[in-house]
Amino acid sequence: MQTDIFTAHEQENEAPTLVQVLVPVAVERPYTYKVPAGMAVRPGSIVKVPLGPQLVIGAVWDGVADTKLDPKKIRGIVHVYDCAPLGDDLRKFVDWVANWTLSAPGMVLRMVLRSEEALQPEPPQVCLQFNAAAPLPRLTQARQRVLDVVGEGALLGKADLASAAGVSTSVVEGLKQAQVLQELLLPPPPVCKPPDPSLQGHPLTSLQQAAANQLIEAVGSNPQTFLLDGVTGSGKTEVYFEAIAAVLKQQKQALILLPEIALTNQFLERFEKRFAARPAEWHSKITPKTRERTWRAVASGEAKVVIGARSALFLPFKKLGLIVVDEEHDGAYKQGDRVVYNARDMAVLRGHLSKFPVVLASATPSVESRINAQEGRYQLLSLPERATGAAMPRIECIDMRQDGPERGKWLAPKLVKDIHATISQGKQALLFLNRRGYAPLTLCRTCGHRFHCDNCSAWLVEHRFKGKLVCHHCGYSQPIPEKCPECSKPDTLVACGPGVERIAEDISDLFPDARVLVLSSDMPGGAERFKEEMKLVEEGRVDIIIGTQLVAKGHNFPNLTLVGVVDADLGLANGDPRAAEKTYQLMAQVTGRAGRICGQGKGILQTYNPEQPIMNALLKGDAEGFYETESQARKNAGLPPFGRMAALVISAANRAEAEAYSRVLVSHSPPNDQVSILGPAEAALALVRGKYRFRLLVITRRSFNLQGFLRQWLANAPQPRGGVRVQIDVDPQSFL
Ligand code: ADP
Ligand code: ZN
Repeated sequence: MQTDIFTAHEQENEAPTLVQVLVPVAVERPYTYKVPAGMAVRPGSIVKVPLGPQLVIGAVWDGVADTKLDPKKIRGIVHVYDCAPLGDDLRKFVDWVANWTLSAPGMVLRMVLRSEEALQPEPPQVCLQFNAAAPLPRLTQARQRVLDVVGEGALLGKADLASAAGVSTSVVEGLKQAQVLQELLLPPPPVCKPPDPSLQGHPLTSLQQAAANQLIEAVGSNPQTFLLDGVTGSGKTEVYFEAIAAVLKQQKQALILLPEIALTNQFLERFEKRFAARPAEWHSKITPKTRERTWRAVASGEAKVVIGARSALFLPFKKLGLIVVDEEHDGAYKQGDRVVYNARDMAVLRGHLSKFPVVLASATPSVESRINAQEGRYQLLSLPERATGAAMPRIECIDMRQDGPERGKWLAPKLVKDIHATISQGKQALLFLNRRGYAPLTLCRTCGHRFHCDNCSAWLVEHRFKGKLVCHHCGYSQPIPEKCPECSKPDTLVACGPGVERIAEDISDLFPDARVLVLSSDMPGGAERFKEEMKLVEEGRVDIIIGTQLVAKGHNFPNLTLVGVVDADLGLANGDPRAAEKTYQLMAQVTGRAGRICGQGKGILQTYNPEQPIMNALLKGDAEGFYETESQARKNAGLPPFGRMAALVISAANRAEAEAYSRVLVSHSPPNDQVSILGPAEAALALVRGKYRFRLLVITRRSFNLQGFLRQWLANAPQPRGGVRVQIDVDPQSFL
């Protein structure tokens, strides 16, 4: 890559200096712009340029400018931001991600440059201090209070000072006018304190130490990808904290990626305990102000460790030395819209391009990562035992065909008995059901009418607590009607099947005295309430927890010994080639919550298919057997990582148009005997948000250039017209 500085030629008659600028829109390549006289830019400089009628933020890019363009038509860069240019390896990363996902590079750049404010230097803080030189005016009580606060040494701005003194801002303003208070400009406070790598963590077990040593050795010298495969509670976090300490000692930065919902306060506190400082955070819940400040601090190198959701991967680190992808198997790493990418895989790519190690950690790795480790592409680090010595939970199945509950109830007598035993010993029980709301389907007893969403092929889910029927795909909701909209009979609606709210109803009938908590992402109160509820659980002030996916990750509940899975078959029914894997992971993760510290944990799976291989693997704790079977199946079918796969999702407001264009695409696919194209098939979720969807699946050998094939195909096919849209999903995770 070039690192030259382009300075505009000063002489009038010389040809203007031209550069390539990548703009944040969906175009294939950078555009050519003029560097006006007196301006200096270099590859990576962040600039403002005209684009059509607008001004947009872009970055000077690599490659030579198009000199055949009519010079009169080339527009000039308007402004260069006074911030560090995007580094060579970040630009390379943007190009690679675009290339891999078949996205426009500008759309990937957009994930890097998220706010203009972050590009400008942060303004200093304006504080007010006492000016001893000014003559003291008459002091009211209010004014006196302000001076008292200032006298105590507080350095505050106008509004904060007024509120600290309990007066209105006009009182403070009056003192400023009288020059008793004068302005003092202070540099903005740091976003976060530097973590201290010299502190010691838990003394590690010998297995942990061996794994940590390999990572420490890799930091700075061995840009490899590691798979840290350790059972729940094996102390993976402690191990990768050692690697982070090593990175910090080398004055480099580290990034820990977590699925958004596992990004908890508990985790941040744990980091703080280990390194005596909180890391910088990056996720959808931080305020715009913190977002700007964090972006800047990451770019300047001031933020040493970032803990973030997938989008943190696109931060402009000054000197990144390690990425940890925790819960690497998690589907939340895949972004499904705009740029469709998997942050786990792109993290591996970023490490590869910038030559630093990447650690993928999980108790239930993805089948891909396991195979990649087996075949030597990743280095495997195993932790087969819990760090505290606690035994792994015992797993049992309840065959719901024989031992199920009576009609209209959802918990088998055996499970109820175990809950009883658990809570009467002062321990906690968790009931897991990955279904929000009260009931997944509502129908009319008289005419059979079923409530479904008009925009999606999905039933409306009853949320009794909110009194609504809700679509979980598009968010549409309506009040629960008093009579059937079809036959108009009152009081005929019945709820079919359970959601967490309905389980809670069963539980309060069975255990009227127990302290019960429902944890589900749609409960009112948001993040604050959730934080408090987590605390209640941690402190043992809840007996029975009923939760969705939200409880499957991220939290340690020390007092929890029983986990009951209400419907272990739930994920298996939907024709998804990854269904077995996903179900296995979820079941192992959620039952792994039991007895983390004390041992004596038990997991109970309610199932109608106890003879399923995955139930067997779970019962016997036979992870190896499970991965073996799955790997073999993938190998036989040529599925990733043995082969390569991409999905094309064709959508349109009109079903026939979507189908017709899917057929046009198939008929224009370049002939190639190394590629199989399946479909078009109507998507399992055929209608989403008012769009009909058809799918094509492309499968090739591993060594085949899938992206090149797709690019050629789409370039040669007739362009879609009207509202028809094609979305490409390389290495799809979801098949709905
Ligand atoms: P994982 O990430 O593998 O699930 P954690 O790192 O969260 O495991 O560790 C699980 C629990 O064990 C935590 O409470 C942690 O503090 C504790 N722990 C981890 N390593 C050790 C150790 N070497 N000695 C004692 N306790 C440990
Ligand atoms: Zn809907």
